[in-house]
Amino acid sequence: MLAEIKGLNEECGVFAIWGHEKAAEMTYYGLHALQHRGQEGAGIVTSDGEKLNVHKGVGLINDVFSEGEFSRLKGNAAIGHVRYATQGGGGFENVQPLVFRSQTTSMALAHNGNLVNAHALKSQLEAQGSILQTTSDTEVIAHLIKRSGNVPLEDAITSALGMIKGAYAFTILTENQLFVGLDPRGLRPLSIGRLGEAYVFASETCAFDLIGATYEREVMPGELIIIDEQGFRSTQFTSPMQRTLCSMEYVYFSRPDSDLNNQNVHASRKIMGKQLAVEAPVEADVVTGVPDSSISAAIGFSEATGIPYELGLIKNRYVGRTFIQPSQELREQGVKMKLSAVRGIVEGKRVVMVDDSIVRGTTSRRIVGLLKEAGALEVHVRIASPPIENPCYYGIDTSTKGELIASNNTVEEIREIIGADSLAFLSTEGLEASIVADRDQQTYGICQACFTGNYPTEIYPDTIIPAYKD
Ligand code: SF4
Repeated sequence: MLAEIKGLNEECGVFAIWGHEKAAEMTYYGLHALQHRGQEGAGIVTSDGEKLNVHKGVGLINDVFSEGEFSRLKGNAAIGHVRYATQGGGGFENVQPLVFRSQTTSMALAHNGNLVNAHALKSQLEAQGSILQTTSDTEVIAHLIKRSGNVPLEDAITSALGMIKGAYAFTILTENQLFVGLDPRGLRPLSIGRLGEAYVFASETCAFDLIGATYEREVMPGELIIIDEQGFRSTQFTSPMQRTLCSMEYVYFSRPDSDLNNQNVHASRKIMGKQLAVEAPVEADVVTGVPDSSISAAIGFSEATGIPYELGLIKNRYVGRTFIQPSQELREQGVKMKLSAVRGIVEGKRVVMVDDSIVRGTTSRRIVGLLKEAGALEVHVRIASPPIENPCYYGIDTSTKGELIASNNTVEEIREIIGADSLAFLSTEGLEASIVADRDQQTYGICQACFTGNYPTEIYPDTIIPAYKD
């Protein structure tokens, strides 16, 4: 669905490269592939072996970078970031990578995710005299690292990682080292690739495809990778825990051409659609998916039921960005501008409308309305994920509990609110089967906390500070 009107937003994408003469350019292209993960800020930091060079700004990558910047971004190593502002809010000061300069070693840091104990750590740091310049979690990590004093950076990072809790996929670049790490449960995705002799890292493998890199493996939960002139080293900073990779990455956030934890996103979505057809079949004439992220599940639903898949809804690609709409009314207007129902396909038909998720319900109500206005006789809504009843504390902006339609209404009540003839959601078991299949939970387990309320980490009282946009 359409992130900016749906109220479901990924918080960031990270990219890193070591050992490539066009490190900045490769990072720029890599970030383009990750642009869907954040559109409010972008930045690249390179190392030329002596100093860090930085360029970043508010907006889309193409707004932030022009050709001239690349002559300044010298060096064979780079990290890059695209940001969606939730935790800490927007503004230039929060655009990553954050750079911390010192007389000995400077450090640039970029991360994707949310720390669940950030507020406690901030209070602790401030009580000990640290002055925080931004409101982002990333700075907390940097201060914890810097606090260790004159120890090797690897030890300082390991000690900081022992203190932070939550979801994080991070990259740290100094003049002569690159560090890459993932939280102990692997809540966020992070993969390793090779581009010739160079090492590359990205939140999604679609970034590798765009620059011609080959996928090597996942960064493992609790793994800290260090690359410098001595080569590539991997350490574990925690004992292995069962993986709980965010299931919403498969449902909605990641691009269909990405593989997450060795599972293709499009293929997973198709299986979700097939499973949904088994769990909630319906008699109808056509199946349509809400573009773009629901099309794979709609194809799966169609294949499983034999009901033909049709393009009943079209995305208006060139309407310009309406951006985050602050009011309910404007959100609805946003749907109208961005989607059209195809009268020639849906008129006089019983339509199955497959969508990936329902957050506030506003968008679903509008789309059902669009289909009915275009002459659909019946609209049966099938959602390829379970009802979202709980907020996410791990880096996804899912709105506050009060705004989540499924946290306050039964399925039948939601059906009535959105005006559908029938409504069904995929079960949590069905979602797990679609992603994990018969693979082992230790390596391939998923988080479903926004559906079940079973959070895979501790949640502190001060975690429940709305980190959300509205
Ligand atoms: S709570 Fe939901 S959105 Fe957040 S990490 Fe878990 S599955 Fe993903």
